[in-house]
Amino acid sequence: MRIANLSGRLVLITPDGGAAVDVERASDGRFGADPQAVYEQWDAFVSWARTADSSAGEAFAEEDLGAPAPAPRQLLAIGLNYSEHAAESGFGVPDAPTVMFTKWASCLTGPVTEVVLPTGGHTDWEVELVAVIGRAARNVSEEDAWDHVAGLTVGQDLSERITQTAGPSPQFSLGKSLPGFGPMGPWLVTTDEFDDRDDLELGCSINGEQVQKGRTRDLIFSVPAMISKLSEKLPLLPGDVLFTGTPAGVGLGRTPQRFLAPGDELISHITGIGELRQRFVAAPGA
Ligand code: ZN
Repeated sequence: MRIANLSGRLVLITPDGGAAVDVERASDGRFGADPQAVYEQWDAFVSWARTADSSAGEAFAEEDLGAPAPAPRQLLAIGLNYSEHAAESGFGVPDAPTVMFTKWASCLTGPVTEVVLPTGGHTDWEVELVAVIGRAARNVSEEDAWDHVAGLTVGQDLSERITQTAGPSPQFSLGKSLPGFGPMGPWLVTTDEFDDRDDLELGCSINGEQVQKGRTRDLIFSVPAMISKLSEKLPLLPGDVLFTGTPAGVGLGRTPQRFLAPGDELISHITGIGELRQRFVAAPGA
């Protein structure tokens, strides 16, 4: 099952991806239009959606999609979660998921956007698998952790590196939360849709040149491991968003370093989910 946020309304995407069914109308109001609110009723929603009539689907444009979880109470992101990316960043392999930060929710957008590059910044790309929580998780085991996931989507953890690493005790969040720096989508895919939810191919390209390619089987802390370990520390709430880290190939780790420039088009994909498309423009007056 795939759900999406179409112009701010919760929709079911038909299996061929070509049409959207408005959930509030199709459920006669049992489930509301707010895409974020559905996670509070996730089990009931899934039961209804499995038998919903999708014949009333209407065609839509991907440009009109928003983030499938646009207003999470918590957005947790992990750094250095693929060993080759830890190496290119100049770090060893962490033995605990300690490099945690947040992206503030105002940066979240849909899958197809134009992003203004901050003047004087070094804006970098990080394709990531993103998990959205469907059932509250507190002290859950790895074995049970997938049961707390509503579904998976594609994310870009866009990062302005100068801001990210500034100061005597760098705080990542500001440099990763500039306007438009959190594209997500194009939709949320439930985990039963994948042959192997623990081994998905992800990557991104700039102007057609592949810059990142990896597989989620190479995550140091897998999705269930992240959920289990984080839930020892704090509750994960329905609708929370987890950015799970990026594979090697970011601009910061290249020789010479490379960052996004006006006119660049970044396409990010995860096999079995879909793709994001970001076009970058200069700030006005830059
Ligand atoms: Zn990241």
